Amino acid sequence: MKRAYLDNAATTPVRSEVIKVMGNTLRYSFGNPSSTQHSYGREARSIIEESRIRIAKNIKAYPSEIIFTSCGTEANNIILRSAVIDLKVQCILTSPLEHYSVLQTVSDLSYRYKVLVEFIKIEDKGIIDLNHLEMVLKKNFTKRRILVSLMYANNEIGNLLEIDKVGILCKKYNTYFHSDTIQIIGNYPINMKKSPLDFATASAHKFYGPKGIGFVFIREKFVKKIKPLITGGNQEYGIRSGTENVYGIVGLSKALHLACCNLTNHMEKILNLKLYCISELKKTIPNIVFNGLSDTPDKSVPTILNIFYPKKDHLLYFHLDLMGVSISNGSSCNSIGFKNISHVIKSIDNKNLLKDMTPIRISFGFFNNKKDVDLLIKAFNKIKN
Ligand code: PLP
Repeated sequence: MKRAYLDNAATTPVRSEVIKVMGNTLRYSFGNPSSTQHSYGREARSIIEESRIRIAKNIKAYPSEIIFTSCGTEANNIILRSAVIDLKVQCILTSPLEHYSVLQTVSDLSYRYKVLVEFIKIEDKGIIDLNHLEMVLKKNFTKRRILVSLMYANNEIGNLLEIDKVGILCKKYNTYFHSDTIQIIGNYPINMKKSPLDFATASAHKFYGPKGIGFVFIREKFVKKIKPLITGGNQEYGIRSGTENVYGIVGLSKALHLACCNLTNHMEKILNLKLYCISELKKTIPNIVFNGLSDTPDKSVPTILNIFYPKKDHLLYFHLDLMGVSISNGSSCNSIGFKNISHVIKSIDNKNLLKDMTPIRISFGFFNNKKDVDLLIKAFNKIKN
């Protein structure tokens, strides 16, 4: 059976070039990177440091600003927890549309450290209300040290944050700025030299690399202020202990390099596919609703399209899968139970459409083509009839 994988925001297939370099590293470069007394260890160390340099180049950061982690979830945890423990943040401003690695961490920080968490209001279509953000900043900035944590691209509806405007506000109110950039890095241009961010996060499996490896970007002036949450061997500039995942790091670096070298072409190809999908969906499902800004090209990432299918059907994803189409209801963390409805869709559904409709996230990647969209449309036609 022909299959179409349209769940690239959950994870992407690993590129063959990445698998090759990882395999070679596993096979031949098995030294412990801390065993610098001998050549095996030094070789592993140099693989890590060359990878760090290459990653930094691709996002225009300094190598010392890149700290490897076991995944994107850990990366967001490190930033949020260190901001409270080491930078003495007492107030976190975030939104209800964040990934659970942010939402559950801020909730834990509020419980453990009595950190004040304020949720910024959401306007129509899931847009962050910047007037409300400024109001909350104004209210708190003289009383508490603040961290703003707002994701750059939403993983369910694809909305892009107006990052420069948020950056201006953070500067005005002398606030730290963290963004979960996990759907951005490797899929959308980012330049850390010009970016207003103090902290950002990445995960290799979102850009055709392996699972189980990510990194945090920590702006240079803060690197020495962050103490490890995982203590032990003082790896990663003393910020994250534990023998490094050398083959994961090399895989991440290779995947990011391949993604960034051809980013303009990749984005154009993926955007054209999304536009084709939008026009075919409109023909097939006349009363279709697009969620968030996912159908507005310059306000969302090309990779993500989120729709309401005009029928309530918890098993829709399952039926589509049986017809060869892999899509999801949104965040992969939500899809363990079919009946779980995404917190993002719930937060933006001000017309109460959820009771009659089923949300679907279609997410495109470099390996997709029009035939995948055609298969999806064919499947919808079958379901309709
Ligand atoms: N943040 C966002 C926006 C994501 O899309 C994901 C992955 O689903 C994560 C965080 C978590 O990343 P990881 O799967 O590497 O833990």
